[in-house]
Amino acid sequence: MEESALRREDKKVVAVVGAGLVGALNACFFAKRGFEVEVFETREDIRKAKVVKGRSINLALSHRGRTALKHVGMEDKQIVSKGIPMNARMIHSLSGKQSPIPYGKKGQYILSVDRANLNKELLTAAETYPNTKLNFDHKLQDWSAETGLMTFARPHGSKTQTQADLIVGCDGAFSAVRKQFLRRSRFNYSQTYIPHGYMELTMRPRNGEFAMKPNYLHIWPRNTFMMIALPNLDKTFTCTLFMPFEEFEKISTGDEVIEFFQKYFPDAIPLIGAATLRRDYFRLPAQAMVSVKCSPYHIGDKCVLMGDAAHAVVPFYGQGMNAGFEDCIVFDEIMNQFNEDFSAVLPEYSRVRVPDDHAIADLAMYNYVEMINHLILKSYIIRRNKMKC
Ligand code: FAD
Repeated sequence: MEESALRREDKKVVAVVGAGLVGALNACFFAKRGFEVEVFETREDIRKAKVVKGRSINLALSHRGRTALKHVGMEDKQIVSKGIPMNARMIHSLSGKQSPIPYGKKGQYILSVDRANLNKELLTAAETYPNTKLNFDHKLQDWSAETGLMTFARPHGSKTQTQADLIVGCDGAFSAVRKQFLRRSRFNYSQTYIPHGYMELTMRPRNGEFAMKPNYLHIWPRNTFMMIALPNLDKTFTCTLFMPFEEFEKISTGDEVIEFFQKYFPDAIPLIGAATLRRDYFRLPAQAMVSVKCSPYHIGDKCVLMGDAAHAVVPFYGQGMNAGFEDCIVFDEIMNQFNEDFSAVLPEYSRVRVPDDHAIADLAMYNYVEMINHLILKSYIIRRNKMKC
């Protein structure tokens, strides 16, 4: 077993486990404060990888998330300029009629951003701090709440152990850091899989232009089914079909895919292309969606959970990453309040943050129901009002 000594001079060592969106941003927050930051990520460096495996291709960045990016000086140039503003939802009725529903006041919008690009930019930003080291191909296996000693699996079967003063678990919905919490008394934990799965399909540009109006989050609400589409910089749209797993499983041939789309999303067939639909529907199986709630988010002065590791939410409120980014700001503010004393900061973070994150998880669940059922009603009311005018 290889041993690496992390302590340098007398600076405290913060280990961030997981270099996804929240982990990479968090590394910047801790580095900015002057800690010795070590980031450990199970995957290889996605900036060098040929294929980046992960969840949704793009996601909606809201005010919450942008504020966190601004804190580490990286909102505008790298991120906002590469995002596409979505001012409203565009509801597609079964007849193909489109009705916009604005997100807020005039001029307000959320941004469609490329997940991989955002993650890469955050990693590069973290690496610009001389006190930050990124360790890829490090999969956390176990850690000690008493000593902060972590054991990582390395490629080819070897292991490495390192120690930190603070372990920040940003390793996602199936967090290995959180496993230690589950072994302890008075830790509350629940996880719920919803009956729906999701599948991504690409809508290519038409004659070099977006196939639909780009500055919208397009939604096809169909009772128990729903499809959404977010624009990408390359003028494609990423369509996400949400549907109960049992419905996905009923479709097993190309003809059945077309029949299904004919029935529920007829206007999307020429936009995605029948041949593409027949092929892409079977490219990957539908993915599951889980909601995780737990409390507290910390153990003593040694470990804290943030992002999906603390609160994985269903994606219907578009706030999973945004809430994870906000975790970083809240923690940072509490660090100021308590002079970086982890024994005071960590319990205060749990006290302040758990109720808010649980509220986001509940709102996401409510919006799951709202988006599937309610938008049909809203678009109907908008159409009816227009007819009256
Ligand atoms: P993750 O992104 O899961 O990153 C965790 C990282 O930890 C990964 O890099 C992983 O490789 C690494 N890791 C895991 N285990 C280990 C280990 N043992 N050791 C070391 N490293 C490890 N949110 C929004 O705000 N807006 C949206 O529009 C939106 N759309 C979504 C659409 C879909 C279909 C889905 C599924 C989610 C969506 N989300 C959205 C939610 C968002 O994807 C998550 O909230 C966000 O990715 C959480 O970031 P994270 O860094 O906490 O976790």
